Amino acid sequence: MARRGRRDRHRPTVAHASYLINLGSPDDALWEKSINALVDELQQAEALGLLGVVLHPGAHMEQGEEAGIARVAAGLDRAHAATGGFKTLTLLEITAGQGTTLGYKFEHLGAMRAQASDPERLAVCFDTCHAFAAGYDFREPAGYAAMMDEFDRAIGLDLLTCFHFNDSKGALGSHKDRHEHIGQGAIGVSGFAHILNDARFANVPMILETPKSDDMHEDVENFEVLRGLIDA
Ligand SMILES: [Zn+2]
Repeated sequence: MARRGRRDRHRPTVAHASYLINLGSPDDALWEKSINALVDELQQAEALGLLGVVLHPGAHMEQGEEAGIARVAAGLDRAHAATGGFKTLTLLEITAGQGTTLGYKFEHLGAMRAQASDPERLAVCFDTCHAFAAGYDFREPAGYAAMMDEFDRAIGLDLLTCFHFNDSKGALGSHKDRHEHIGQGAIGVSGFAHILNDARFANVPMILETPKSDDMHEDVENFEVLRGLIDA
């Protein structure tokens, strides 16, 4: 199989790491298991030539956000040291902030990257449901612009490497990670229209993570809704 470089955006493919991984865990045994699991995911992704592996950065389990962020950065360092020279990226995903989950503020992801020894191995996956549930309101143009400005300051827009497109069952700031079909949740179609028509993201992959049945007809319907939002 031909190896695709990270800059080849013709048919970019990303994987999603196991939800059991917690690089923020204060428990050493669970932390080591999480590092090993991420190394395994990165090895598979590299062998397949994937753009990256989407990873929920972790939960601090009551040790506090600052300590949790440092723990995540140290875990990322271990995983990246064990996979030196890999092209596939670790894509930290914005989270809804359920429980003690980290990554519900852009600043968290920026801090993890700033503390990492190999920051060039890290980029970001922007999940629309998670960001909205975390409290970012991008339904109106002014809110959308302010949110992306904040992302740029905290992380850098050039590091926004893929989107997960999901409407949200939960309200703004609810911290609930509950995906809904596009336009049928609390975000509504306008938030998606801002992203789809933003020239800065013309080459950034957008992935539907909405509910699906076996024949995936829901994806066809969600895709049609999104296509209808693109300005002619
Ligand atoms: Zn997601």
